[in-house]
Amino acid sequence: MTDCIFCKIISGEIPSQKLYQDELVTAFRDIHPVAPTHVLIIPNKHIPSVNDVTPEDETMLGHIYSVVRQLAVQEGIQEQGYRMIVNTGPHAGQEVYHLHLHLIGGQRMRHPMG
Ligand code: 5GP
Ligand code: ZN
Repeated sequence: MTDCIFCKIISGEIPSQKLYQDELVTAFRDIHPVAPTHVLIIPNKHIPSVNDVTPEDETMLGHIYSVVRQLAVQEGIQEQGYRMIVNTGPHAGQEVYHLHLHLIGGQRMRHPMG
């Protein structure tokens, strides 16, 4: 996707603070962090949202959890805990239509379910 901001981050066309990259996924710091750790983990393949996931994406999706665990250790938040958020569509306020998982931690958070 030529006009996708996250595809441009993957390729390096748009600069970012990359923390991790392999053949399946890329992780980088969110430009507007809501907590001391706020990392986005994205597939290298352009998938607009969870609505566009197919069975062939299952390996990559499972891999994201392993990368999250590694990043949590690196960021020193594995013991106190963290939150993973995937916004899908307008009701969830998805702003960038390239699938991404927010890894947020480093401070106590209010429970999202109230
Ligand atoms: P969404 O609301 O779609 O779940 O989250 C999109 C996220 O992408 C937001 O938290 C926003 O701060 C982040 N973001 C948008 N543009 C950029 C960018 O150019 N660089 C980085 N690092 N993050 C971005
Ligand atoms: Zn993209």
